Amino acid sequence: LVQTGPTSGISSVIRKKLMGYVGFANLPNQVHRKSVRKGFQFTCMVVGESGLGKSTLINTLFNTTLYPPKEPLAPAAERPKTVAIESIGADIEENGVRLHLTVVDTPGFGDFVNNDDSWKPIVENIESRFDSYLEQENRVNRMKVVDNRVHACLYFIQPTGHSLKQIDIEFMRRLHTKVNLIPVIAKADTLTDEEVAEFKERILSDIAYHNIHIFQAPTYDNEDEETIAEAEEIASKIPFAVVGSDKIVNTPDGRQVRGRAYPWGVVEVDNEEHCDFVKLRQMLVRTYMEELREYTNDVLYENWRTEKLLSMGVAQDSTVFKEINPAARMQEERVLHEAKLAKMEAEMKMVFQQKVQEKEAKLKQSEEELYARHKEMKDALEKQRADLEDKKRKIESGRPLTPEKASTGRKKGFLRT
Ligand code: GDP
Repeated sequence: LVQTGPTSGISSVIRKKLMGYVGFANLPNQVHRKSVRKGFQFTCMVVGESGLGKSTLINTLFNTTLYPPKEPLAPAAERPKTVAIESIGADIEENGVRLHLTVVDTPGFGDFVNNDDSWKPIVENIESRFDSYLEQENRVNRMKVVDNRVHACLYFIQPTGHSLKQIDIEFMRRLHTKVNLIPVIAKADTLTDEEVAEFKERILSDIAYHNIHIFQAPTYDNEDEETIAEAEEIASKIPFAVVGSDKIVNTPDGRQVRGRAYPWGVVEVDNEEHCDFVKLRQMLVRTYMEELREYTNDVLYENWRTEKLLSMGVAQDSTVFKEINPAARMQEERVLHEAKLAKMEAEMKMVFQQKVQEKEAKLKQSEEELYARHKEMKDALEKQRADLEDKKRKIESGRPLTPEKASTGRKKGFLRT
């Protein structure tokens, strides 16, 4: 038993022995009971040209008549011109476990003369399901989140025996980042074993060449050998060569099986020697349904959500965040405004100081001028006084005045004002 000690930045692990029964070993049973009570939701999309056996395979997979027998195909002129998206829901139960299964069908895919944009409505449909989930997650009350996201997409490849067609590559390239792609070779009973093997090889090399990611059964380090071997076996069958039939037929040895009867024998759906139906069911339902749901939520939806929010300008710590967050934007604007005001104030102060210095310099200059004039006047007056004194002394001593001295004494307005 390990226990995480009190933390001070580093967490320590203390090993302790239990003194008695605590009960948390029962946790998996609690989860089990709860999930059984709640039931499970699973949405599977089927894509492929009409008549490839999509409805039959779904009925065979879930052992139910989800799809009633189809009307014969209408003449080309009467058929709709775009790919339609139809979904059928069913509550199915097995050994007390309830599963709400939704099958999303895409009638019309690949049925037109020009199938260039056949993938478009399908991508839009998958994204609108992500949108709806995101919208529910963002609600104040998240008690009733309905998960309508597509958890797996069965892509039906025509059993041509050649290689993938342009429409197959285009579809998978557009969809592999949005949905768990599971390619299947439709109506595999129309090909021989060798043809199937060669066809699979060519399909896989096309998929690898175009960097298309198809769903792989995951394996974890701590898993037992049996589980790893099972995952490897499933992986080795991709793309699954399937045969669908909801009819019970008699085998030459007297058994009653789900299969297709031919003059040369019976193809058994549930016989692994005859086709990969069992492995497909294992991948989709028995072993990896939860992995498909988890991968959809943790990787596909998460990547889409991040991209979507980034494209809307939401980012936790970048300037883009401020662009759409009003509070952050206002704060940013206030800081900018304050910085602008501070700069203006500093500039004004500088101009003011400059003007004061200029004025002071001017005043100082005029003061000096005034002082110089004052000194000049004073000196002139001093000189005048000294002359007059001299004159007075001479008059008093009885000596006559020189003509120059006499004119000095007459000069009126000598002082400059
Ligand atoms: P959808 O249009 O793709 O849904 O195809 P359907 O499921 O309606 O099947 C079209 C026809 O193909 C029906 O007559 C089926 O009986 C037949 N079909 C379905 N699955 C298989 C198969 O695995 N092998 C063969 N040979 N025929 C099949």
